Amino acid sequence: MKKRIGIGIDLGGSSIKFALGTEQGEILKRGKRPSYAQEDYPIILDEISKAINDLVVYAKSIGKKVSAIGIGTPGSVDVTSGFLKGSTPNFRYWKKVPIKKELEQKVGLPVFVDNDANLMALGEARFGAGIGHKNIICLTIGTGIGGGIILNGELFRGSNFAGAELGHTTIKYNGVDCRCGGKGCLEKYASASAMIDQFYKKSRGQGYPVYKDELNVKYIFKQMESGNSLAKEVIENSTYYLGRGLANFMNIFNPTIIIIGGGVAEAGRAYLKRIKNIAFKYAMDCSRENVIIAGAKLGNKAGYMGAISFALNQLSLVSSMKRSN
Ligand SMILES: [Zn+2]
Repeated sequence: MKKRIGIGIDLGGSSIKFALGTEQGEILKRGKRPSYAQEDYPIILDEISKAINDLVVYAKSIGKKVSAIGIGTPGSVDVTSGFLKGSTPNFRYWKKVPIKKELEQKVGLPVFVDNDANLMALGEARFGAGIGHKNIICLTIGTGIGGGIILNGELFRGSNFAGAELGHTTIKYNGVDCRCGGKGCLEKYASASAMIDQFYKKSRGQGYPVYKDELNVKYIFKQMESGNSLAKEVIENSTYYLGRGLANFMNIFNPTIIIIGGGVAEAGRAYLKRIKNIAFKYAMDCSRENVIIAGAKLGNKAGYMGAISFALNQLSLVSSMKRSN
C-alpha cells in the first residue's frame, strides 16, 4: 500500500510547529516558526503558509507528493468548514478566521482544521500512549488545561464543536472567576499557571524573594524535593484538584486510559502518582476498574502528528462522499 503523505501544523501562542509525515506516523521533516500571536490574522496565516510551502518543496525534493494539510489551532473550530469561531486568550486577533478557505487559496492543497487539544489527543491515541485504547481522555496541562475525548475510537467534539472543554469543568462551585465566564474551573486550580501563581503568592506572602518570570513548574518540583514546604503545599493542592477532576471524567466517560501531557506531567513521576491516588480514591468502583492514568508519550509532537492523521482521514472521507454522490 502506498503511504500517503500529509503536513501537520500545530499553532501555539509562541510558535508554529510543523511536520511532514506519513499516515502511519513516520515523520520525514519538521520545523518551527514564530506564530506572531499578537499580530493581525493575515500575518499568522502567512507564517503558516510559509511553513507549508517549505514542506511541500522538501516533499518534492524527495520524490513525494503532499495529499492534505491538517491544522490544529486553539479555539473552537467548525470542523466541517474549517472556520475558527471562538477567540483564544493568547492570540489578539485570531478569531472568526476562515482558516481552511484562506489557506487553500494560498497553498492550493486540501486543508482541514480542528482544535489543537483535539488533535493532540488524536496524536496520542493513534501513535502515543493511547495505542490499543478506544475510549481515551487526554489532558494537556499548561497555561490552561486542554481536553480531548476519544469515544469508540473517534474524537468527540459535541454538537456545535464546542465540547471536550475539560479544563472548564467546575471543581469549586464558588471558586475564582475564570476567563470562560465560569467560576472555580479546573484549570484555575490545576494548570501550570495556577501552580506558578500560587507558589508566587505564597512565597511573597512569607517574604521569600521570588521572581514570577523566573518561575516554572520544574523549579517548584525541585523546591519540593529539597524540602520547601510551600512548594509541597502548592503541588499537593494542585494534584488534589486534578485528581478530583479525573475522578469526574472516569465516572462520566469510563475510559480505559487517561493521558496527561504538558510540561507539568514531564516534571515529575511523583506528580502522576499523586493524581492517580486521588482519582482512584474518589471515582466510583466500576468507573475506575482497569483505568490507566499515564503520561503522554509524544511530547510536543502529538499536535502535528494528530493533525497529519486527521487531515488524511478527512481527505478519505471527502473522496468517499464524492464517489457516493
Ligand atoms: Zn473556565
